Amino acid sequence: MQSLGDGIGRWTAEQSRFLKSHGFSDPKSWALNATGLTTREYRAALSLEGKLFAYGLAPCKNGHTLKTAGGCPQCNTQYLSYARKNVTPGYVYVARSASTRLVKVGLSENFRNRLYIANLEGYAGIWDWEVRDYIYVQEMGRAEARIKRSLAAYGVDAPCMGALELPSGSPRESD
Ligand SMILES: [Zn+2]
Repeated sequence: MQSLGDGIGRWTAEQSRFLKSHGFSDPKSWALNATGLTTREYRAALSLEGKLFAYGLAPCKNGHTLKTAGGCPQCNTQYLSYARKNVTPGYVYVARSASTRLVKVGLSENFRNRLYIANLEGYAGIWDWEVRDYIYVQEMGRAEARIKRSLAAYGVDAPCMGALELPSGSPRESD
């Protein structure tokens, strides 16, 4: 019999069913074991590992032990809307600003529109972003996690989706 907090320390079939019913075809691959971690620690771990769900946590008031960075998705499915963007197909693009020699790596379902707006608004104080390269991917979040890991090797810390700035001299600058 399922009792309150049954999922402490483990991933459960119920969590898997819940997330699959919300469009995450392989939810475990997006989850990390956060047993014993504080809120601050599991949020940092999610970001670092490029994961969406922390499991094994102390239960919420309704006995759920799974959380996104925002909160308990089983109590409030709004917390899944950000997470869902990660499993959405779209483009990873590389843009470069000639005036500053900065390179921006972004993820978008419509990158040409995104860059058009970035140039109108002067994203990062820059008005001359130009697309240099792009690729279509099935899951934008997984691509982002790979990019973050690659960039970490160059000492680039890129905390948020769609806004990674590379200093000049980074790999894309050699072309
Ligand atoms: Zn809950």
